[in-house]
Amino acid sequence: QAGRRVLMAGNWKMNLDHREAVHLVQKLTWILQDKKHDYERVEVAVLPAFTSIRSVQTLIDGDKLRLRHGAQDISQRDSGTYTGEVSGGMLAKLGCAYVLAGHSERRQYHDEDDQVVNAKVQAAFRHGLTPILCVGEGLDVRREGRQVEHTVGQVRAALEGLKAEQVAETVIAYEPIWAIGTGEVATPADAQEVCAAIRAAVAEAYDADIAAAVRVLYGGSVKSSNVTGIMAQDDVDGCLVGGASLDPEEFAGICRYH
Ligand code: PEP
Repeated sequence: QAGRRVLMAGNWKMNLDHREAVHLVQKLTWILQDKKHDYERVEVAVLPAFTSIRSVQTLIDGDKLRLRHGAQDISQRDSGTYTGEVSGGMLAKLGCAYVLAGHSERRQYHDEDDQVVNAKVQAAFRHGLTPILCVGEGLDVRREGRQVEHTVGQVRAALEGLKAEQVAETVIAYEPIWAIGTGEVATPADAQEVCAAIRAAVAEAYDADIAAAVRVLYGGSVKSSNVTGIMAQDDVDGCLVGGASLDPEEFAGICRYH
């Protein structure tokens, strides 16, 4: 991780109503506090459904919790006649620090292409949010051995037009689609191969300092039982966790991987 602050982010997807969300945050922060979690070294964030963000924010602010929170999606537009959309400005007012952009489930079920993902990354920066840009190949691409080419292509397209300091702040999550929610975790070497290639691509497009600053996460069936090997890789700076983030003991175990 070479001095980069580790980030463990829990993507709750379309799970937990606002009461359940509050309950999970309480349990998670109690466990982490009990274990004297070092938040400076390992930042912890939760990404609830839109309907739970306000409740989570109130709890975090009220109890002065050190947990960060964010959203799973953002509109590429800032306001107007876009029924059902939620803008970056609205998320910023709810204290969101992070927002996912281009999660594979959005790309797959909502037809988000690289252009839309780029517009969402730009929208995040317009409102002071840090995007967690999700990239990664499907099984067909992996079988053809084109995972690096495919994933680096997605990164380049999504970062198009950003300023260097914005790229340095962006979090990039490498999530091979074949490993998401399948229990099929990539090997630590698989994760390292693509995460290192992403960092090298940033160095090529910008410079070595920007590449050294950007945080690259791995995501795909991460659990407390497999996180240690993944986090031992030089270019993996944290994890984006789906299913396992819904269990506070399990997610706390992931946050305390060392
Ligand atoms: C995700 O959807 O971002 C994810 C990594 O899911 P899971 O951990 O359940 O594979």
